[in-house]
Amino acid sequence: MTPSTARLPVLVAGSGPAGLTAAIELGRRGVPVRCIDRASGPSTLSKALGVWPRTRELIRRFGGDEALASRSLPQTQMRYYSSGKVIANLRYRTATRPLICPQPGVEEVLREVLAGLGGSSEWRTELLDFEQGDDRVRARLRYPDGTERVEEFAYLVGADGASSTVRAQLGIGFEGDTYELRFVVADVLADTTLDPKMTHYFCSARGILVACGLPSGRWRVFTSAPPSFTQEGADLTAVQRLVDERGPGGIVLRDPDWLSVFSVHARQAERTRVGHVFLVGDAAHIHSPAGGQGLNTGVTDAHNLAWKMAFVWHGRADPDLLDTYAAERGQVARAVVRQADVQTRIWLLRRGYQVALRDTLLRAASALRLFDISYVPWLAGLRTRYQVPATQGRAVAGFRPGALIPLPLRSELDDLRYTLLISRPERPERRGSGGAPFDALADLCRDRFADRVDVRVLNGHGRARGTVAALVRPDGHVDTASRDAAPVRTRLTALFTTPPTAA
Ligand SMILES: Cc1cc2nc3c(=O)[nH]c(=O)nc-3n(C[C@H](O)[C@H](O)[C@H](O)COP(=O)(O)OP(=O)(O)OC[C@H]3O[C@@H](n4cnc5c(N)ncnc54)[C@H](O)[C@@H]3O)c2cc1C
Repeated sequence: MTPSTARLPVLVAGSGPAGLTAAIELGRRGVPVRCIDRASGPSTLSKALGVWPRTRELIRRFGGDEALASRSLPQTQMRYYSSGKVIANLRYRTATRPLICPQPGVEEVLREVLAGLGGSSEWRTELLDFEQGDDRVRARLRYPDGTERVEEFAYLVGADGASSTVRAQLGIGFEGDTYELRFVVADVLADTTLDPKMTHYFCSARGILVACGLPSGRWRVFTSAPPSFTQEGADLTAVQRLVDERGPGGIVLRDPDWLSVFSVHARQAERTRVGHVFLVGDAAHIHSPAGGQGLNTGVTDAHNLAWKMAFVWHGRADPDLLDTYAAERGQVARAVVRQADVQTRIWLLRRGYQVALRDTLLRAASALRLFDISYVPWLAGLRTRYQVPATQGRAVAGFRPGALIPLPLRSELDDLRYTLLISRPERPERRGSGGAPFDALADLCRDRFADRVDVRVLNGHGRARGTVAALVRPDGHVDTASRDAAPVRTRLTALFTTPPTAA
């Protein structure tokens, strides 16, 4: 990257949760950014509800957690019913508990954080088209007064949702399927004895009904409907009938403030990077709301891209670092789309033997707490393990390459730089027992890479035997871990061969 390109701002097209996160993460890393949206203002549709812990952790990092918590209702569990009987409870622990916060609330928090960084969403500003040269993107923007201008940017982040202009202009396919059934969502007042702090899944031969309490005291109901069910035919009476057919009985709906009929898709973009242009969020993948991952995956996509983009923009890392965005987030998107598809199909089983098998398996898995051990932490976003160069390597003293390092240590590390963690045994090693190469590694980071790597020395962490060095990325994932200093030195040099340039 040439210094002149480095001074160009980044354009984020789309001011939904993914675009706002990209703008915040770039802004707090000192990269000038513009975040545009063709809409006239923030969307008031409640859409996504669940904020999972990994997303919350990122929001906490940039200072939005208090505002988020004040708009939220914490959840205690997911409860599955079949033919009116409870068949499974998936309980949250503190570490895996999601917050229920309708999407406008999450976006409001993100806009407040962006404003604190001196940024804002530029409404009624549309990306019309763009072209790219070797080192920049020229984008044609239409402003609120109708004028059009071509402007230059270092990168373009396409956070422009499921019908992405950026994806279409790049000619990238959006492979996948659309479910035959339609789905109805309504935010309503409800007379019910259901616990609002649980998400209730009523599976029946007629279809699925999901009910969940909202922070406002209202309820979200979400149910499948025949393909013939249209928005025109959807009123409270029709939704009440679907709820009566599928639910436990006795739920009386009133006063809807949102009622929508929509199709559900399972699609993923063939690529998420072409040159200096990237796709994040719904522009890159869409799926059923089963598992509540859409908003969360968009936020974590944007975070993954932004910290890498900032490193490269500042000239602090080799541009190859940006290639890892598509690989890492493609892996996550595939898993999310597959999970949502499997769960949606399980919801919709109708044949007697399939329902019996599903219910038996869910009962058994629930009794054995299998969901609490594996599925719920995955939903929470805590199980992501990226394919880093050292992924084949085993965990070293608890540092597993590609995986997140555990909390609370993760929250104590610098998230703007990598961290070289040197973990020493409780009793300091004697001179000549192998500590010197690690000291040299720490000196290398302090002397040559201080703007990219923080150094932390831990004594007696995890009862490690011998000294261990772990290079942890700004997102808390372990890049490399070794009992030998040499591989970590090699990795540092490979990552940071580019000399620093002033931004
Ligand atoms: C009914 C419903 C229920 C849902 N439930 C859940 C749930 O429970 N959990 C969950 O996690 N997710 C859920 N989702 C999905 C969630 O809403 C999306 O995943 C999320 O909004 C994606 O965020 P995004 O920032 O990628 O895109 P969007 O929120 O779609 O934002 C894209 C933005 O780009 C703007 N834009 C588009 N084109 C241009 C252009 N050319 N120039 C400038 N701006 C442009 C648009 O105006 C829009 O504001 C639900 C969605 C729906 C519809």
